[in-house]
Amino acid sequence: MATQKRILVTGGSGLVGQGIKAASEADKRSDEEFIYLCSKDADLTDREATKAVFKKHQPTHVIHLAAKVGGLYGNMRANLQFFRINSAINDNILSVAQEMGVKKVVSCLSTCIFPNETTYPIDETMIHNGPPHDSNYGYSYAKRMIDVMNKGFNQQYDTEFTAVVPTNVFGPFDNFNLEEGHVMPGLIHKVYKCKENNTPLTVWGTGRARRQFIYSKDLGRLFLWVLREYKETEPIILSVGEEDEISIKEAAEFVAKGFDFKGDFVYDTTRSDGQYKKTASNAKLRKYLPDFKFTPMDQAIRETCEWFTANYSTARI
Ligand code: NDP
Repeated sequence: MATQKRILVTGGSGLVGQGIKAASEADKRSDEEFIYLCSKDADLTDREATKAVFKKHQPTHVIHLAAKVGGLYGNMRANLQFFRINSAINDNILSVAQEMGVKKVVSCLSTCIFPNETTYPIDETMIHNGPPHDSNYGYSYAKRMIDVMNKGFNQQYDTEFTAVVPTNVFGPFDNFNLEEGHVMPGLIHKVYKCKENNTPLTVWGTGRARRQFIYSKDLGRLFLWVLREYKETEPIILSVGEEDEISIKEAAEFVAKGFDFKGDFVYDTTRSDGQYKKTASNAKLRKYLPDFKFTPMDQAIRETCEWFTANYSTARI
């Protein structure tokens, strides 16, 4: 009989955690038990609370998602807090996991932590090649240190600590707050309101910035593959292809379609666009999984719009 795996998912109540939950329920294995944590189970900035939750659940594997996460505008206001909170959480999770004998931890980086000045497409080898964009340096440096710690733990303790690098994630359970959320949930919330009030849609920025978006349920399926099959400790980018990068204007059009919104679009160019583009290569992923099928963008956005409408009263807005 296969050894029973107890997989502790930190940040399990969030956008990515719930994507993993959906994927694991669609692809159940008898030797796997998932435990999804939220901040009420333990404040992971607190080392003793982190130890206690590991003692309680005795995980054999960890998927580490818990983080202070925010969009461009939230980050710009609080770089110091993003750095300190995320550094504390990451240090606690990785060191307690090692102390408790957890062999494999899959942590989560992001393509927005890559150098601001770089060549495109970015790939897994470029994470530390220069300073990140100034708007989110706190979050970025804290995330980059996960890669540094993984290397150290693997060298000194023979662990298999690795990390994945998703592009912009969207889907059910996202943070749809207009000031602090990411661009896609922000657009979804705004279009929902515009349709309700019969007003034009105001898109922040010029609409020209370009991004690769991944549906949380697709990311969930890829996380499970990394947990089960990926043997490298070097990070791997989890993204749609370079050809699937779209402008913010196109993203807004997809959302309008998702809600059947026919009103006008206005671009508020007093708002920053952030980095113009961050095109990431998914060549490494494609080398392993040449046949993986991403959900078509219009379907994924429509499903998310439907989820938001059905869950408006309880969603994070
Ligand atoms: P969410 O904001 O949706 O979820 C964050 C999760 O972390 C929640 O479960 C939250 O718990 C938990 N959490 C936050 N602070 C603490 C704390 N102090 N102690 C314990 N738990 C805490 O984020 P996402 O799902 O979007 O992000 C998950 C991971 O994916 C993060 O590491 C993020 O950096 C990464 N990522 C996200 C991208 C995106 O586009 N969203 C892109 C690339 C990477 P609670 O629900 O109780 O608050």
